[in-house]
Amino acid sequence: MSIRIGILGYGNLGRGVECAVKHNPDLELVAVFTRRDPSTVKILTDTASVYHVDEAEKMKDKIDVLILCGGSATDLPEQTPKYAQWFNVVDSFDTHARVPEHFANVDKAASESGHVGIISVGWDPGMFSLNRLYANAILTNGKDYTFWGKGVSQGHSDAIRRIDGVKDGKQYTIPVEAALEAVRNGENPELTTRQKHTRECFVVAEEGADLARIENEIKTMPNYFDEYDTTVHFITEEELKRDHSGIPHGGFVIRSGKTGWNDENSHVIEYSLKLDSNPEFTSSVIAAYARAAYRMSQEGQKGCKTVFDVAPAYLSAQDGAELRKHLL
Ligand code: NDP
Repeated sequence: MSIRIGILGYGNLGRGVECAVKHNPDLELVAVFTRRDPSTVKILTDTASVYHVDEAEKMKDKIDVLILCGGSATDLPEQTPKYAQWFNVVDSFDTHARVPEHFANVDKAASESGHVGIISVGWDPGMFSLNRLYANAILTNGKDYTFWGKGVSQGHSDAIRRIDGVKDGKQYTIPVEAALEAVRNGENPELTTRQKHTRECFVVAEEGADLARIENEIKTMPNYFDEYDTTVHFITEEELKRDHSGIPHGGFVIRSGKTGWNDENSHVIEYSLKLDSNPEFTSSVIAAYARAAYRMSQEGQKGCKTVFDVAPAYLSAQDGAELRKHLL
């Protein structure tokens, strides 16, 4: 029997989870829940239906795992604990500083209801966190580096769009190649913010807008751009649509460390991602963790978990014997 999946929130991630379910034959999409009028939300799966979120509780026995696809800023802090009352849940909460608080809230709800809630699943947090943990546990005498990009930063793109005279814009975060090379060579460099990443902006300005002022406002914007070397390109609306409508991302998690009595040997561990679509990749990670949530719940586990608490075998559609035969 397949694992019955529900999606709550149908944005980029919700659509990505729908695609990921299609690529995992042991998962089946049963329902999509939205806060909008369900008749306005069109999904791709013929065998599933769209419901208003208020209908979700009634379907608690028809769904094995509910995947929460709302935004981290305001949706998930409220939605994940709420729906953990009725469902096993998985979310992709990515406000790193607020993870402890979110964990406590979901743990309380899921422990009381007897469900499993896996939070902060994706690539960062998620696969990057896991790789940082593995590398730290192995190379205890070393240094961690995380580089992001090349990819679109939604927050920085929003910040550009809020500037007076800007019609639309996209921002890419790009790792500095020389810094990456120094880290890969085991040089253990001390890197400032400016030395690790650059920022590249593609901006559509309103007609007659003062381009020099816009460029200056971007480059000097505190917290977003002032600590980086930033390049600004003014382009047309058509060019933005044609060349910059994707949501690519990726990055590198690297740890270099020393072993030997006198630290004589160096080692470098690197995990890298190059993603055409950030939400579709994130959703593929979520699908694997939804399988884990179901299995852990079947075993009687409950409460909140993160990627650190889920043994790798729970993620795979293959059983233990198959895994030992092919992957060991
Ligand atoms: P979106 O803005 O696309 O969607 C968020 C919510 O907004 C949806 O669940 C949906 O809820 C609502 N919404 C979407 N489209 C519309 C629309 N046209 N009109 C009105 N409401 C709409 O966000 P993403 O899916 O891109 O990202 C969700 C979260 O995923 C992000 O906040 C981020 O924190 C997290 N994330 C985590 C990653 C990780 O590595 N851990 C990586 C990438 C993202 P409803 O259907 O109820 O209206």
